[in-house]
Amino acid sequence: MKIQTPYYLIDEKKLLANLEKIKYIREKSGAKFVLALKCFSTWSVFKLMSKYMDGTTSSSLYEARLGYEQFGKEVHAYSVAYPKNEINHLKKISTKIIFNSISQLNRYYKDVKNKNLGLRANPQISYSHFDLANPARKNSRLGVINKKDILKNINKLKGLMFHFNCENDDIKNLEKSLNYIGTQYSDILQKLEWVSFGGGIYFTKEGYDIEKFISVLKNFSDKYKVQIYLEPGESAITNSSQLHTTVLDIINNGKNIAIIDASTEAHMLDLLIYGIPAKIETDKKNKHEYIIAGRSCLAGDVFGTYKFKNPLKIGDNIVVSDVAGYTMVKKNWFNGLPMPSIVVKRLNGKTEIIRQFTYFDFKKSLS
Ligand SMILES: *Cc1c(COP(=O)(O)O)cnc(C)c1O
Repeated sequence: MKIQTPYYLIDEKKLLANLEKIKYIREKSGAKFVLALKCFSTWSVFKLMSKYMDGTTSSSLYEARLGYEQFGKEVHAYSVAYPKNEINHLKKISTKIIFNSISQLNRYYKDVKNKNLGLRANPQISYSHFDLANPARKNSRLGVINKKDILKNINKLKGLMFHFNCENDDIKNLEKSLNYIGTQYSDILQKLEWVSFGGGIYFTKEGYDIEKFISVLKNFSDKYKVQIYLEPGESAITNSSQLHTTVLDIINNGKNIAIIDASTEAHMLDLLIYGIPAKIETDKKNKHEYIIAGRSCLAGDVFGTYKFKNPLKIGDNIVVSDVAGYTMVKKNWFNGLPMPSIVVKRLNGKTEIIRQFTYFDFKKSLS
């Protein structure tokens, strides 16, 4: 089947490799796994994912509602700040409501006191390669720092959420961090039912010591008698997707530049935000070097520089890999460019075009 580019392709078989790891860790460690929808909200594969995970976690009412409607199981609601109208709706659909501050907890406590409530704590340690994504950055607004404030409100709470990692692939670092949190919060943990260690743990990366990870989790939950939750986003969906594009033009302005029918700014925004090149599989020993660039009018709309085996020609396909996390959720209509379709290769091998976007979707996104 020839599908019109650009399109995002999610391969359920590749997704399953991550999900099988989650299932294994879940069964061996007793930890529960909720999918972080802010990373990935492509709900056409939720039916598969929900068989391997315990539910979803969210950053807003809309994400919580999507989890409730399309994923099922547990719905963790979290938000940096809730407006009143969201609280009333969240009360009906969520299994846990997690507040970011003591003032939000107290502001809404009387409305939600019968729910399973949690609070985000900021342990002031973190693992992140980017300050932009570092919850322990200076003057961070993410989570309560003062432990005395948490203790004062402990009777209202069933759990604490710590999210302090970003692509942490270092199990020794994680072990150290959990030991630190255990020691620092031991008096608080004793009074709680659950603790979430958030997302950002890169346990599906090749070579990650999963057995060690299981023992670190199990030791913690045994020692402090709490149910552990993890909130993977990227780890749950990594390496399961591609963005398929076509070369529209080739020019040379000092270097060969191939312009494709997609854009970093519109379709892979994180490349720009974090200044990282797209993953395009080529061999460094290849001879023919090209800058792969997007078709938006942004001067810096560049995917990266790559070497190809043969000279590129107009009409060639360029495939960017690993585009599910923080990519599809951020796509936008900049320049009015055609939105990549969403295509899923199902476990049974059948390829389904789930969604194609038209001019009217662009038009409807504003008025
Ligand atoms: C972003 C986020 C996650 C998911 O992070 P990943 O790095 O994608 O695993 C989980 N929990 C919270 C609170 C987050 O903000």
